[in-house]
Amino acid sequence: MDLSRTLTGFGAALLATALLANPATGAPGDTPSTRDFGNGPERNEIAAVDSAAALSARTLLAEEPASAWSLQSRQGYPRQNTLPVWPDNPEDRSIKLGLIPYHEMAPKLNALQQASDRVSAEIIGKSAGGRDLYLVTVTAPEPAGEAARQDRWRALIEDNPAAAKRDRALRNGYKTPVWINANIHGNEWEGTDGALRVIERLATATDAATGDFLGRSRVYVTVTNNPDGRIAGTRANGAGFDINRDHATGSQPESRAVRDVVIGTQPFVMLDEHGYTGTTLIEPATPPHGQNYEYDLYIKHALPNALGMEKAIQRLGYPETAAADIPFRDYVPGDWDDWPPIFTPMYAMYHGAIGHTVEIPLRVNNADYTNLPVEELRRRAGINTDVAAATIEAALTYADTNRATLLADQIEQFRRGWAGEASPEIPDGFVPGFGPEDRYSTTFPRAYVIPAGTPAAARLVDHLIANDVRVTRARHDFTVNGRRYADGTYIVDMHQPKRGLANVLLEAGRDISDLVPQMYDISGWSHGLLWGARVDASLRTLPRVHTSPVTRAAPTGSVDAPRGRDLSLSLCDGNDVRAVNELLTRGIKLRRTHAGTVVVPAGARSEATALAKTLGVRFGAAPRGTEGEVFDQPVIAAAVSADELFVLREMGFEVRTVSTAVLNAGADLSGVDTLIVSSGLSYTALNPTARAAVDAFLARGGGVLTRGATGAAFNAAAKVLPATAVAGRGDANGVVTVTNEGAVVGAGSPPNSFVYSPLWFTGTGFTVEQRYGTGPLVAGHWLPTGTGTNGPAQAAGQAAVVSGTTPGGGNAVLFGTEPLFRAHPKGLYAGYARALFWTAG
Ligand SMILES: [Zn+2]
Repeated sequence: MDLSRTLTGFGAALLATALLANPATGAPGDTPSTRDFGNGPERNEIAAVDSAAALSARTLLAEEPASAWSLQSRQGYPRQNTLPVWPDNPEDRSIKLGLIPYHEMAPKLNALQQASDRVSAEIIGKSAGGRDLYLVTVTAPEPAGEAARQDRWRALIEDNPAAAKRDRALRNGYKTPVWINANIHGNEWEGTDGALRVIERLATATDAATGDFLGRSRVYVTVTNNPDGRIAGTRANGAGFDINRDHATGSQPESRAVRDVVIGTQPFVMLDEHGYTGTTLIEPATPPHGQNYEYDLYIKHALPNALGMEKAIQRLGYPETAAADIPFRDYVPGDWDDWPPIFTPMYAMYHGAIGHTVEIPLRVNNADYTNLPVEELRRRAGINTDVAAATIEAALTYADTNRATLLADQIEQFRRGWAGEASPEIPDGFVPGFGPEDRYSTTFPRAYVIPAGTPAAARLVDHLIANDVRVTRARHDFTVNGRRYADGTYIVDMHQPKRGLANVLLEAGRDISDLVPQMYDISGWSHGLLWGARVDASLRTLPRVHTSPVTRAAPTGSVDAPRGRDLSLSLCDGNDVRAVNELLTRGIKLRRTHAGTVVVPAGARSEATALAKTLGVRFGAAPRGTEGEVFDQPVIAAAVSADELFVLREMGFEVRTVSTAVLNAGADLSGVDTLIVSSGLSYTALNPTARAAVDAFLARGGGVLTRGATGAAFNAAAKVLPATAVAGRGDANGVVTVTNEGAVVGAGSPPNSFVYSPLWFTGTGFTVEQRYGTGPLVAGHWLPTGTGTNGPAQAAGQAAVVSGTTPGGGNAVLFGTEPLFRAHPKGLYAGYARALFWTAG
């Protein structure tokens, strides 16, 4: 990173586009040299429509789906499986590009397995759309005993790095693990084709060098991480999620599958093959660098590995591959950072991998896919495939050549974690270009303490465990830092191999607004502040209490009421909401005493008991004589983004998707209780008939819930509430503090929220549910615009969420925050759901 560079080229173009665009919707344009955004501001433009995948997205919130796949088995290699063949699909978007369509992968992998005892193919999970996700392993044949020895060594490196370091047999015999992830963005195709070419070469080469290489290496390839998107030509998966933004959250089956692969295989090096940046782009990234990395152990390999990949694409001899962009070397801070753990390579770094995003150069997707002649598309796709294959081959060579130091450095990463060593101070010039702007470190707390007993705590603990974070349970009551905790309280001892991952999930994060002018994607997240569980950091003291390791959170559900008594349920968590919707679906008459408390008749005790068990929710005894108004399952019409639709269905709401186009086509709003508007619905773009239908809906007292700029525009145009929305800077995002005031959202919401393109509301004639705190940004990136407007200082104390009565007599709630963003801030779901029930009347 050369700081003497001014903000030119890429960075300036990006910043200019971001600033010139409407701050509420400002996504940079889709030109070859700018990055593609995923599930960002464009969420507000296109409403999600019903799809089979979205409809099937009804997993129980409490459960982190267990992996059916494990690397550990009693088998040696090859461990071959005849993969089921998918029917021919002439609509597969790969075909036009001359690339392999999804339905040809299983036949190809089956043939390769038949032809070579070096190739094993397995199914590691299913996509949101229900398609098989393949893992190919290429290695020299291993007897079962040897595979078991490799398993033991891999575990030893993580569990007891000191012993691993001393183990000469391990040092000589441990097979170098490399993992290639391809096609995580479905319309960035050629990583798959390049990887298959490499697999084929390794499988069929007869030279001694290849045989020797495979005798000391295992090459793991997730051939397509996104078959739904590959077939449909979309960036997202079948549920509308950008998988390469989901690694901290794990809401999608594709990200959970590769999570299990990276934990299971513990690669030294991994590549995530993307496109298309005009010039091939190869990480390492610019600052800000994630503060929880052992960054010295990373950059000492990442930079030379990138340089090796650059040489390899230069050797291809195309004018288009004369050089690569290596952000660490070539870009200014903030242009292409590795700050959030939402990207595959960044997530993999916490598991000991030298992770790289690789962007192949020549655009073949979006408008180019439609507009360019087929021969030009195929020419580009051919070069892209060569680039993907060349980067993979170069990374394999790097890993093989440097296997001893890669092993030693992975051992060292885990050793530092166990030892609780301070973050490393990395000197200037540690690698060429390393300067003060690259230096990030943190102070790890000694432990995190998570009181048990709520579905949110159980969900968080199961999530930590699924991510290979070690969690224990206290066997007695204890006191630490003057606070008393009950037995069963969860403790995360931060002296553990993957402390960086534990911390990046649980810490509050950091306000990095002053460090760089802009960031690539989100800069704030926090499972500790946003997932609804109480998480206390103990900075210096490990609680003195006997503990047991936890492999799964303890059940939390209960029905604490005498038989014959009505039950009461507080809507504090998405699972509480799910339980209410399940009961309503079964025709049980529920009553509501106020927005947040539901009364279940004594006669539904057996249903409540079953839901307490599956969802972990806690029913109490309703005070005798509790009345409350009876309510039905709301009928919801929703113009929402894909992530919001996913969460609504997770919580068990019945949702009909609408949009400007759907309403203009004559969609019927009669019978609808609440209209949600956050995406793809413009009142002013409705035709007269559709506008009349919306007006009639509002006039009869229909409820309205809005979120974000699209929702606020609808509120203004349809005259829902007399609130004026003020937009914060469009690329601002992060964790904020809020004060809770109102009875609907405000009652029972946590003191933190999440924003992306934040809004606040001015005016009178409504109730403030929630305000931004003073100095609201806890973690993330939120700058004012040039004139000192739209910033966090201007938002401080302003109304973030408001409620009120519409002229037609309906209830309405306007969100300026992002309570459902990418299915991440799970602690905010219940407040949104309370608003939804309230608006539905
Ligand atoms: Zn991509």
